[in-house]
Amino acid sequence: MIRALLTIDDVSSKNTTAIVDYLEKKNIPVLMFMVGQWAENYPDQLVYALKHGIIVGNHSYTHPAFSQISFDECKKEIDKNEEVLNSFYEKAGVERKYRPFRFPYGDKGGVNKEKIQEYLAEKKFDKVKDTQFKYPWWKEKGLDKDIDTLWTFDLAEYNIRPGSGFTTADVMKRIHDPEPAEGAALLKEESDHLILLHAHDETEELAPRYYELFIEELLKNGVSFVAPEFI
Ligand SMILES: [Zn+2]
Repeated sequence: MIRALLTIDDVSSKNTTAIVDYLEKKNIPVLMFMVGQWAENYPDQLVYALKHGIIVGNHSYTHPAFSQISFDECKKEIDKNEEVLNSFYEKAGVERKYRPFRFPYGDKGGVNKEKIQEYLAEKKFDKVKDTQFKYPWWKEKGLDKDIDTLWTFDLAEYNIRPGSGFTTADVMKRIHDPEPAEGAALLKEESDHLILLHAHDETEELAPRYYELFIEELLKNGVSFVAPEFI
């Protein structure tokens, strides 16, 4: 069996509602990560996701590369987004039980890496369960110790942009790649994954309902989606 936790970044957006509806229809659990500044543009979509029982984590307020800003700015990005996320939970009338965090671009903060991890621990962010990952690089890179939520497989569909030459066929190729340059091969029997996908209206413009296309491909190839767990 191939087990995977689906994570969707950069909510909310126009297409967040349709994504929630599709996942609900297919009975696929998901963990979403919110950028506060963008969610403020699409507040109803975020409230909709929360009301439908989706756990939404912190993905910073303005989505900067954390290695390019000061430690103080990193803390502000995290704290401000916590405030916004808490107010969305309140608006939705949903109790916030878990508080996972994901860095924009998976950028762990460069020289401030350790300080930020300490800060995440101090602020009691929840670590997504990763003890099932048997990839040697997961431990070698210290990812088993980090509080933030990285991924083992990046669909990279955000590369589908005007003029990029990157299409849905390239995403399909990645899905079937037995030896990816980064991360773990997805369709390997008895493997566990954290899959990265995004809620991007820009992707939707070039590839309508792209999430459906990719998720159907995963289902067809034996991936079974698991609910988020925390340690
Ligand atoms: Zn992001």
